Amino acid sequence: MIGNKFGNNSNRGKRKTVFAVLCVGILCIAALSLWRIGSVAPSGEPIICIDAGHGGSDVGATYEGRYEKDDNLRLALAVGEILEENGIKVVYTRTKDEFVSLEDRAKFANKKYATYFVSLHRNSADTDVSGVEIWIRSDSHNDEAKLAAKILDKIDEVGFGKNRGVKRGYQSNPNADYVVNKSTDMPSCLIEMGFITTARDNELFDKNFDEYARAVAEGIMAGIEPKE
Ligand SMILES: [Zn+2]
Repeated sequence: MIGNKFGNNSNRGKRKTVFAVLCVGILCIAALSLWRIGSVAPSGEPIICIDAGHGGSDVGATYEGRYEKDDNLRLALAVGEILEENGIKVVYTRTKDEFVSLEDRAKFANKKYATYFVSLHRNSADTDVSGVEIWIRSDSHNDEAKLAAKILDKIDEVGFGKNRGVKRGYQSNPNADYVVNKSTDMPSCLIEMGFITTARDNELFDKNFDEYARAVAEGIMAGIEPKE
């Protein structure tokens, strides 16, 4: 059927309206998709739990008025800040000078579904020894060993006396584990950032502080890159 002049015009008008509505609809869907992509957490939302060792009444190792708990917290906040600047979600077992039990630290990380747990400490010894070492569980699987190796490589690039390697278990007992390594559900490691009891290591810790913080953060980020 052929419509009259007005009818044709009217149909054309309707088609135009339908076309315009479709265009707006498509634009809305496109905008909404972009918005949704933009709101997705970065890289599938890895969450890094940074653990500043000791705190509050537990001062950790000491040396000439210097407390391990303070060095650990300072480094933890610096590492976390770099990770956050890179769009990575960070949770902290403590952000101030307070006591948190070892079990509570692990429970916190488990509750947060952290991807990795990284505990920061300073070493101590009766002798004049130097360097960085990283501890992982005695029965550790590959993910932990790789994470620890990546962090240690980055620290080694800056240089921190002797590279004392990635070690399994617990100092003085290879079959035991640090609580924070044993009780965490996710890959974890405990970094001993030089000896607080060795003046030279403290000098290095202070002098290269920013570079060490960056090295630890970069090591962690290398660990959460998608696996090939
Ligand atoms: Zn410690």
